[in-house]
Amino acid sequence: MKKTRRLCLVLGDQLSFDLASLKGLDSELDVVLLVEVMEEASHVPHHPQKITLIFSAMRHFAEALRQRGSRVQYIALDDPHNTGSVPGELQRWQSLLQPEELHLTECGDWRLEQSIKDLGLPVQWHADSRFLCSRVEFSAWAKGKKQLRMEFFYREMRRKSGLLINGDGTPVGGAWNFDAENRKALPKGVKPPYPARFCADSITREVIALVSKHFSHHYGSLDTFDYPVTHAEAQALWDYFLDYGLAAFGDYQDAMASDEPFLFHARISAALNIGLLDLRQLCSDVEAAYWSGSIALNAAEGFIRQLIGWREYVRGVYWLKMPDYASGNLFGNSRPLPEFYWTGDTQMNCMHQAIGHSLVHAYAHHIQRLMVTGNFALLVGVAPSQICDWYLAIYMDAFDWVELPNTLGMVMHADGGYLGSKPYCASGQYIKRMSDYCRDCAYKVSESTSEDACPFNSLYWHFLMRHRDLLRGNQRMAMVYRNLDRMPDAKQQALWQRGQDLLAKLDAGEAF
Ligand code: SF4
Repeated sequence: MKKTRRLCLVLGDQLSFDLASLKGLDSELDVVLLVEVMEEASHVPHHPQKITLIFSAMRHFAEALRQRGSRVQYIALDDPHNTGSVPGELQRWQSLLQPEELHLTECGDWRLEQSIKDLGLPVQWHADSRFLCSRVEFSAWAKGKKQLRMEFFYREMRRKSGLLINGDGTPVGGAWNFDAENRKALPKGVKPPYPARFCADSITREVIALVSKHFSHHYGSLDTFDYPVTHAEAQALWDYFLDYGLAAFGDYQDAMASDEPFLFHARISAALNIGLLDLRQLCSDVEAAYWSGSIALNAAEGFIRQLIGWREYVRGVYWLKMPDYASGNLFGNSRPLPEFYWTGDTQMNCMHQAIGHSLVHAYAHHIQRLMVTGNFALLVGVAPSQICDWYLAIYMDAFDWVELPNTLGMVMHADGGYLGSKPYCASGQYIKRMSDYCRDCAYKVSESTSEDACPFNSLYWHFLMRHRDLLRGNQRMAMVYRNLDRMPDAKQQALWQRGQDLLAKLDAGEAF
């Protein structure tokens, strides 16, 4: 066996050719190690399409590295010597190759990074330069602040990147944020583009067979896998979005529609999160589209804010606050996740649609996640760890650094308001305004307390009554509590009772 100078472990969400730990690689002396391991694929029951995406993209990446001349050691899931865990494989290959150096880029998951550090090996860690803001920079920005706010962080990132910034340092268009223009419902007759789809090649077909064999007990369909698994395919998906989605993305990014899982969304989050696309290039393409006059400022700014604002911000919060962050539970919730989250079998059409899309495509867009499935979990008081695990398992783009703050903080407000200044709770009226779901629902969105009333309505008020002591001092909740206080006692009691009845049904394991 050739002598190894450097052993470089590349994880399944680090498939970028310019990964920090791959810099300066010597094709003769160094070895790149990629491992498919059972522990990472099953510590929550990941959607079979997500496992397929990661294993197939890893195999394609390994092949591309070999074609570029690198020495690659690839361990497949069913390799008889596979120890089943990343630390196990790292230790095994360290001992087999006896490299002079071990190199690794920071992980996206605190649990995994800790388990590697626990080995006590002399790993040289590299900051993940694919992000605009390093862990160190974020922690310096957060230092001394009582409360962090994404909006201020985002402005820093705009200044740092120069994106949509005038020569004098002011934001293009005279404002930092045009979110108010990005909340339109989908008008009748506006049709989203046909979604871009990618055919499985022989590598992906082999992975699909492997995943079918080992993970058929995980929830979610494998038949509809159509996701890009190479850099070139991810670029094609991105180009398709630039041509057909971006111009309308701004206006309708919060809209929801029956049987339209993607609308004008790019669906690139999973490709970006595993390294098939480059954040800086995406932002620069969007800015160029704005300057060319092909898209409006609200579309460009809204997209860039998601990438350099929210995405970087939640990562910063995650690494700043882990591991304690994961145990946040402001409301003391303990209700188990209702079984219908795994099947979509509910008469609530909005939930049926959002969960159904998630099971079929391993995807739902941010408003379906935040204001439908997340909102319901918040209103009924699901234990944060259970809903967090569901999001981590079911979504193609969910990795701990991005999923945990979004779910535990943004959706469940379980971090006590560290990430969001108020809980994103809403009645059925919000869902009615932003979708056509209520039209075909078994429940009436205009009703609150009758047997056929929309469950979101009474559960919304039940949530507010239940947590009055914790929430009524919040300035941003003052108006809803004034509305509650003005409500006649009999109405309040009827809402409370309807909420109690629905929660009792959940506790009895009944779907509604
Ligand atoms: Fe959802 Fe209520 Fe509308 Fe039915 S009526 S789709 S449960 S918001």
